[in-house]
Amino acid sequence: MNEHKKTVVIYPGTFDPITNGHLDIIERASELFDEVIVALARNSQKSPLFSEQERLKLVERSLMECCPHRTNIRTDAFQGLLVEYATARNATAVVRGLRAMSDFEYEFQMALMNRKLAPTISTVFLMPHEEYTYLNSTIIRELARYGKDVSDFVPNVVAAALKEKFEIKYH
Ligand code: ADP
Repeated sequence: MNEHKKTVVIYPGTFDPITNGHLDIIERASELFDEVIVALARNSQKSPLFSEQERLKLVERSLMECCPHRTNIRTDAFQGLLVEYATARNATAVVRGLRAMSDFEYEFQMALMNRKLAPTISTVFLMPHEEYTYLNSTIIRELARYGKDVSDFVPNVVAAALKEKFEIKYH
């Protein structure tokens, strides 16, 4: 009998904060692969609104909120080059979300560079449900900063954390 090699994929991101668009991609990946590692990038050049600990906690709580039945999803944080982390985790592939053509150019460059660095690790692109194609964390932070309700776009734990963050910041 042919041994099935367990498929482990890494879904990397800044997740500042995690949105329903990210969760849509995570759920799709968890249907397709044996194990999904949601990996928070520590050394992002961006200066995030939420600290690493806060972002990781929000990812974990969001997963508990949306899909506690999905037992093949793990969370982790990594530093340094994604391909090195993926190799160390014995990953089959890296998962990225593609929302629109505007994502394509950057993602295409990254995927090819990563393949050059680690030829055995593929990049797999998944498309979210249409209703999430216009969503990104930057827009969510902007809406929340001006006191708009973002609960249609993010899990409840994230909406609450944003509210608290901006109340503390401005009051
Ligand atoms: P990065 O800082 O690397 O862009 P993000 O946390 O913003 O990380 O995104 C991580 C991954 O999730 C990327 O592949 C991005 O394209 C994807 N993504 C972000 N928002 C959405 C969304 N609304 N729908 C689908 N994929 C998304």
